[in-house]
Amino acid sequence: MNICNLEPKKVFEFFSAISSIPHGSGNTEKLADYCIDFASERGLKSYRDDSGNVMIFSKGTKGYEDSEPIILQGHLDMVCEKDPDCKINMENEAITLCNDEKYVWADKTTLGGDDGIAIAYILAILDSDDVPHPPIEALLTNDEEIGMLGARELDSSKLKSKRLINIDSEEEGILTVSCAGGVRAYCTLPLDFENTNSKNLAAYNVEISGLVGGHSGIDINKNRKNAVKVLSRLLEYISSKCKFSISNLNGGGKENAIPQNAKAILCISDEQSQILVKTVSDFYEILKTEIITSNPNVLITVNKTELPKKSLTLNSTRKVIFALMQIPNGVQAMSPDIPNMVQTSLNLGTAVISDNELKINFLIRSNAATGKQTVILTLNSFVEYLDGKVIYKNDYPVWEYRACSHLRDIMADAYKEVYADTPVIKAIHAGLEGGILSAKIENADMVSFGPNLFNVHTSKEKMDIESVKRCWKYLIKVLENLK
Ligand SMILES: [Zn+2]
Repeated sequence: MNICNLEPKKVFEFFSAISSIPHGSGNTEKLADYCIDFASERGLKSYRDDSGNVMIFSKGTKGYEDSEPIILQGHLDMVCEKDPDCKINMENEAITLCNDEKYVWADKTTLGGDDGIAIAYILAILDSDDVPHPPIEALLTNDEEIGMLGARELDSSKLKSKRLINIDSEEEGILTVSCAGGVRAYCTLPLDFENTNSKNLAAYNVEISGLVGGHSGIDINKNRKNAVKVLSRLLEYISSKCKFSISNLNGGGKENAIPQNAKAILCISDEQSQILVKTVSDFYEILKTEIITSNPNVLITVNKTELPKKSLTLNSTRKVIFALMQIPNGVQAMSPDIPNMVQTSLNLGTAVISDNELKINFLIRSNAATGKQTVILTLNSFVEYLDGKVIYKNDYPVWEYRACSHLRDIMADAYKEVYADTPVIKAIHAGLEGGILSAKIENADMVSFGPNLFNVHTSKEKMDIESVKRCWKYLIKVLENLK
């Protein structure tokens, strides 16, 4: 069946039209043109700002002329992924839509349901003459998938509304009402080295690998072991059995991932080498009893290596172990409003010894502005006590949970009417466009929802047809209730 014959017809017709226009991130101009043309053909005011965001304005329908306007928002760009044997050039050729009775997908490429379905819904509403609605300010943001570039540079002066429905969630039945803000912290602690020559020393490379790792926001409360923290515990354990110095240390890969690997080069006297090797293997046995079921590939190895020219003094060795063991990491506070929801966390993402310094980098997240501040104060006090410094970069704003949200109440009530069930109200412990937009639109009351999409950002992406239908009915009901 041609997807244009699927119900709701208008939605799938627009979705099909959008899909015929290549619109990967950084390549959205033609889709933006299409939306601007759509508006002018229907006599609707539209505006494109310097960052490629498109706005289309529609008056309220009969009886809604004086209602407070609503912003309907989705992003213009899609992630372009394809199978290795796919011949389509997604820069300038259309993807091939397919469907069965349950799903719509694209042959060997991403579908762009994320977030084409939002654009299709919004155009279908603007095109309709039988959907009662308040004045609409459609906001189609540019390049969300490559750092929310459009939202960051949005010229919001044309928007009058203070309430916004984002249609970029991928799970039906969930109303998202908050996202985390974040900031990266770069800590440095000064260290002292001494020469290793003229001493009877051997060097060993101790390495932890194969931990499951994870996303530093979404997985931070899942009890995933951080390889750097495990290494610090191992080093302290070795300290209780023999004397050594650290020559080098390197753990983790990036701030926004829980480290899976960490290693250190240790210098130790020849006589104590065997104690070191045995202590590491004892520790490995202890660790396995704790985490082997959740981390079946965990591995700790200890191998003799070439003696480095320099190694840390005993004081600096103690300092590194103390810092890595005691510096805060993981969940710092749970949400007082949403059950089982992490409010504030930090992820120790990388730890490296270089340039006579221990460098520890974090990603701090919080769904409350004050939570981020609390972590910053904690890190400052810890690092300053050890004569170090912290620099903060890449600050991005939080979308805070509102104790009172008129929009959330209306959307929860409309959900009950359409689904005869209650929606899940959820906060996300990661960054969304909502964070950027709440900094652009002062006092915005925002909710995010959307139909079921699976395997987004992969060539296996698919969209649930019945879910699209139910969410369409739901959106219509919400607009009707937004008097
Ligand atoms: Zn999206």
